[in-house]
Amino acid sequence: MDALNAVSASGTTTLGGTGEWRPDATSALPLHAQISDYFIGKIRSGAWPPGMRLAPQRELCRQLGVNRSTLVTALGQLTAMGLIEGKRGGGTRVVTPSAERDGSGAIRESTGFGGQVRAGNWNDYVEEGIHYPNLPTIQAINRLEYARGLIRLGTGEPAPELLPGQVMQEILAGLSREPLLPLSYEEPLGSLELRTALSNKLSAAGIHTSPASILITSGALQGLQLIAMGLLPRGAAVLLEKPSYLYSIHAFQSAGVKFNGLPMDERGLMTDSVAQEAYRTKASMLYTIPTFHNPTGILMDEERRNALMATTGALGLPILEDGAYQELWLDTPPPPPLKALDHEGRVLHLGTLSKAASPGLRIGWIVGPEAVVARLADIKMQSDYGASSLSQLAAARWLSGGYHEAHANVLRQKLRMRREAVLEILQAHFSELATWNIPAGGFYIWLSLRQPLPLRKLFKAALQSGLLLNTGDLYDRGDNRHLRLSYAYASITELETGLSILAGIIRNLQRHP
Ligand code: PMP
Repeated sequence: MDALNAVSASGTTTLGGTGEWRPDATSALPLHAQISDYFIGKIRSGAWPPGMRLAPQRELCRQLGVNRSTLVTALGQLTAMGLIEGKRGGGTRVVTPSAERDGSGAIRESTGFGGQVRAGNWNDYVEEGIHYPNLPTIQAINRLEYARGLIRLGTGEPAPELLPGQVMQEILAGLSREPLLPLSYEEPLGSLELRTALSNKLSAAGIHTSPASILITSGALQGLQLIAMGLLPRGAAVLLEKPSYLYSIHAFQSAGVKFNGLPMDERGLMTDSVAQEAYRTKASMLYTIPTFHNPTGILMDEERRNALMATTGALGLPILEDGAYQELWLDTPPPPPLKALDHEGRVLHLGTLSKAASPGLRIGWIVGPEAVVARLADIKMQSDYGASSLSQLAAARWLSGGYHEAHANVLRQKLRMRREAVLEILQAHFSELATWNIPAGGFYIWLSLRQPLPLRKLFKAALQSGLLLNTGDLYDRGDNRHLRLSYAYASITELETGLSILAGIIRNLQRHP
């Protein structure tokens, strides 16, 4: 398993890893020759550009399934061809093919105009863009979610069997029979048919809005990106819950925004320090996930919602409400969203089809004042000219056909069963090790370990045993005692096996930290 090895060794991306490819032991061509041919192809095509570091030999051997001497023979051939070179202390790199190198190994090229261009290759720029990379653990999770055989204990999406495959198939088949498929760009705010369907859906949740106040995005995540880039000045401060999903992505930090995390209790974000922190940090906005918070699963109660609206109202502090899990109540419907309590256009509301219907459709939305969504639409037009027209039309039919509500009811039942099963499993394996909340909706259980643990170490140890974890430090850098468990992805059998293995790993780490 390529990615598994890469992560366990370094916790970073594998540059020069071999992916899925392995030499064919039944081929007449010797293994070392197959390997050198494969590497030559990668280097000559530019997939492995000059200067790129290959994974360490031990790891390449593991990934390729060959012994050291076979690999050394292949690398020797490539070295002799001048394609790779060993650097003392720097591993093996793809050779920079220019004679015109300065002392540091970088290429200096004359422009012929008396000056110099900053020549190099794309690899030299990898860390220079304005967008921060993901945390190494998130990069690893993003890769490993596609590795076969791992039990995914924290994945934040419904398992494929919980998604409405058959109905979507019918909707898509219906679309394919229509005289005109939506193959053109859509208008800046997105498909009017979808926005109309959404305004009906939102009004059932107490958000009365017109299609002109709705912007369709490629998932709620793009909504966050657009807001970070389009509405906040560099150096702006944002108040938010700590922990929060928002700490696990770098949309805001990349736009130069600073976070100030506020504490939560079992009733949601604590409002007592909001005013003081807003003054102290000159906050530009407050981000909250009031309904089935990611990662804690906490539901902000009605009183807290009113208090939050009152406090921020007195401050004139805008709110970004992330309603990604809003529909996934399991016991009773939640209190109205903050947007439903907003009569001054102070709340921007994010929603998505990802958590109940289909993360792959990439359909989300932002509801807000018309001028604000128009500004965000303008940026969206400059970044992708709109979400996929086909996805938008499929989503419109999904909503207007009444399928969404019917599916949400079935999904709630299934999630309820999964939640009960996991709570029983936790009772059996974790009573001495941790405490946890009983979520009233969403996917997540926030497991609080009784003793702190090095979470990176736990992540790696779990991976060695075939478990993929979402550790608390992804949602609060300083955390060392939480795990985000999801009952939406792994099957109940996998959850039973995985959690019992995990309990053993935690006990072991506690004994030998
Ligand atoms: N907000 C929250 C709170 C989430 O948990 C997620 C997904 N993990 C998103 C936004 C983004 O979801 P998507 O882009 O798929 O709509």
